[in-house]
Amino acid sequence: MRELQNIIDAKSSTDGDGVKIHRLAGQHLNIHLNPYILIDEINSDDAADYIGGFPEHPHRGFETITYMKAGRMRHRDHMGNEGVIGAGDVQWMTAGSGVYHSEMPEQENGLLHGFQIWLNLPARDKMQPAAYQDIDHSTMPEKPLPKGGSVRVIAGDVVINDNLKAKGALKQRSTQPVMMDIKLTAGEKAEFAFNPHNPVLVYVYNGSTNQLKRRQLGIFSDGCTLSLHGEWEGAEMLVLSGHPIDEPIVQYGPFVMNTRAEIEQALQDLHNGTLVDRA
Ligand code: MN
Repeated sequence: MRELQNIIDAKSSTDGDGVKIHRLAGQHLNIHLNPYILIDEINSDDAADYIGGFPEHPHRGFETITYMKAGRMRHRDHMGNEGVIGAGDVQWMTAGSGVYHSEMPEQENGLLHGFQIWLNLPARDKMQPAAYQDIDHSTMPEKPLPKGGSVRVIAGDVVINDNLKAKGALKQRSTQPVMMDIKLTAGEKAEFAFNPHNPVLVYVYNGSTNQLKRRQLGIFSDGCTLSLHGEWEGAEMLVLSGHPIDEPIVQYGPFVMNTRAEIEQALQDLHNGTLVDRA
């Protein structure tokens, strides 16, 4: 059994042009989140909370995963790519050596709810060319649970309650990401098995489990089985797992590298206009 080792509360914060978010990130959390760097949640029915969006900004050295539950996120980048993802969709962006983009939220029926997760890259993969994989909700396995809950598998191979197998659509990478969106009804229990050698993060975004309240992140140990139990109101949560990267992390804003010199190089490249290839 995987055991709950730590509970961390998401902190309210702002980013981009005044967008209100709840965030799990920071140097003190790197060791707990590894190989992830950051988990942000946006959830609002007031456009003033997010209308400024995330105007043009750079990234280098990691991947960003944007997952929408309600509303849309419109994306534009330095290569001329433009796209919009809606409820249930994922944009998996590998910033690699550099991307320069904007991300602008758009409400739908007055609602906006989504997540952005940062997944680190090992040193050997940090300077690869930027790449995207958009994952439409219709291509993700969504498995019903016996008591009314459900599991959507965004990435990784998962066995649910010892019998249901599900395989996410994501191309595999060295960090071995597993990502699921799980809904448990009141009192419902479910068990999940996947790579037992990697730790697990569980972020509850609605309701509560027997161990975690809304906007708490639970850090679970290695182990064969993750057991989750919806409390009286039921629970909705993201489950993340991955292979930790045993390398130093030096982060400066939107750059996540291994050394200070690499951060200084990224800043110099940004200044010189060579962070990204605008050809
Ligand atoms: Mn971004």
